[in-house]
Amino acid sequence: MKNKDEKRISFREAFRLNLRMLRILYRNSPRSILSRVIKTGWEALSPYIGIGLSAMIVTELAGNRDPKRLLFLVLLTLGSALIVSLIGAWIHKWYSTVQEVWFFDAQQLFSKKLLSMDYQDIDDTHTHDLLAKIRESRMGNGYGAFNIYYMIPKATTAVCTLLGGIAMTATLFLSPVTDTRYAVLSHPLFTLGVIALMVFIIVAGPWFTNLGQKIIARHTQDWAHGNRMFMHFGFLGYDKKRAADVRMFRQERICVKYNNNKEGFFGSKGTLAKLHAGKLGAYKAASQAISALFTGVAYAYICLKAWAGAFGIGAVTQYAAAITRVAGGVSTLLEVISEIRTNAAFLDVPFEFLDMPNRMYQGTIPVEKRRDNEYEIAFHNVSFKYPGSEDYALKNVNFSFKVGKRLAVVGMNGSGKTTMIKLLCRLYDPTEGVITLNGIDIRKYNYDEYLSVFSVVFQDFKLFDFSLGQNVAAGNTVDEARIRDCLEKAGFGDRLSSLPNGIDTPLGHDYEDGGVELSGGEAQKVALARALCRDAHFIVLDEPTAALDPIAEAEVYARFDSIVGDKTAIYISHRLSSCRFCDEILVFDQGSVVQHGTHDDLLAAAGGKYHELWNAQAQYYV
Ligand code: ADP
Repeated sequence: MKNKDEKRISFREAFRLNLRMLRILYRNSPRSILSRVIKTGWEALSPYIGIGLSAMIVTELAGNRDPKRLLFLVLLTLGSALIVSLIGAWIHKWYSTVQEVWFFDAQQLFSKKLLSMDYQDIDDTHTHDLLAKIRESRMGNGYGAFNIYYMIPKATTAVCTLLGGIAMTATLFLSPVTDTRYAVLSHPLFTLGVIALMVFIIVAGPWFTNLGQKIIARHTQDWAHGNRMFMHFGFLGYDKKRAADVRMFRQERICVKYNNNKEGFFGSKGTLAKLHAGKLGAYKAASQAISALFTGVAYAYICLKAWAGAFGIGAVTQYAAAITRVAGGVSTLLEVISEIRTNAAFLDVPFEFLDMPNRMYQGTIPVEKRRDNEYEIAFHNVSFKYPGSEDYALKNVNFSFKVGKRLAVVGMNGSGKTTMIKLLCRLYDPTEGVITLNGIDIRKYNYDEYLSVFSVVFQDFKLFDFSLGQNVAAGNTVDEARIRDCLEKAGFGDRLSSLPNGIDTPLGHDYEDGGVELSGGEAQKVALARALCRDAHFIVLDEPTAALDPIAEAEVYARFDSIVGDKTAIYISHRLSSCRFCDEILVFDQGSVVQHGTHDDLLAAAGGKYHELWNAQAQYYV
């Protein structure tokens, strides 16, 4: 396993990578970034106003004690405190509103990419592996794209605190002492020495933190793996879909064994515990101890110079308050610098995901709107391998068919029927060969227009947790009469009349009260209605009756013509008896079309695949 920190990245490169991600996140949602910068910037700078004014009051009290000036300073302090709080509250209000939705905003970056990506990439396990890694880094140690959201406020705080603090403490080092016995305190070498000592202490703290982070980075993969296991086993009980199987096979025993494993990454005898008991713990302790040392040195220097008459008591309060802030600022800045480096190592995965190109050729030709409705689809020597697979799922497939016909596609499991449909709908492009619509390579058509020609009910179709009407209309605009008609045609009419809220009934009750849970067969009818509702020339039905009871299935067959109307239907089925009403039948075997003809012709061809399949089922019908 290659560890992240083995890949050395220069600081410049690390900075460039983080900046690139910042730009992407800013373009995705400017308010999420701006609100953090403005809020933290204001919080870092505004205390200096109070520190400066308090010092002036103390100076006045210790010096002239002019009541008018004191009154003025007190009023100024109160007034500025009021204004600072008002501005702060206004910024905070805006910030909180943005915070409510920042994660949603940020997540949109990945959602939009997923929605615009080629289907074959979504279907690819590598894509999901990248997404899992992004999620695991974020949940495990917080690194990756979203860590920028946490680094930005830290960097803003550091820079603003430093600028304000340096402006307020510059005179601490420059003011000469008046007591000549302590002239050494004003000597440039002494001053430089003190500054060097302070810088050393400030740097040493984050240096130890950084050493600790390097140890953590070395175990990134184990950390992510530990998290993946935890997310799986720790939450198995939450998974509704698995609940029945978990109970049936007592799978919770596996979870308990995993969750009680003390040697696991997060376990009491595991890697993380050992690291904390060893060097990691020591570095953390050292980094905290060292910050106390800084305060000691700074206070000693300020007090000595005041003692030697360099400045008065008012300045002491100002320097003491400002210098601790400067120290905090430097240490935060160093932390950010070290985080920039560590985080860069976790950015290659999100960049790989976000940079995935759309490889499918996007044509421009509009799909011809023919008055005669004459459309012909043809497969010319089409072969196809799934990405990452060595085997052909389809091999030299040739056939053509015309609009208005009913085409049945039959064959054993895994013979390539669904794959053929996926190629037809351009979810994938052929590895070899060409598919044409009216003689033109389908890749040359405008993709959205081409897709609108088809309406498909996939075997593993999914409905959404929207209302029944929105599901059938596949959108928010719901034409009630049309939806009812399609549901009737699909055989859902009786069930529809039993629903109190009709087509407004939500499907599923995970998100809304009053929802209904449909049975497999009912869901299949709704999916069929959704396909009918789409105004497409071709309707493709992949095993559309698999979940229906025999009566509902027989109804679909009996009314198939009126259901499908003048659309061209491509009908995939295991049940050969259901293919008789189709004009043509394509027989698939091991990725190839082995027969093409009418039911009667194919049945007559003794020894053919169709004959064999028919006979295998016929015995149950006799
Ligand atoms: P059918 O619809 O006839 O049951 P499919 O078209 O689903 O068959 O499958 C054809 C072949 O392609 C099978 O060997 C199957 O394992 C393989 N296959 C299907 N989907 C994928 C996929 N996403 N990745 C890799 N191989 C696949």
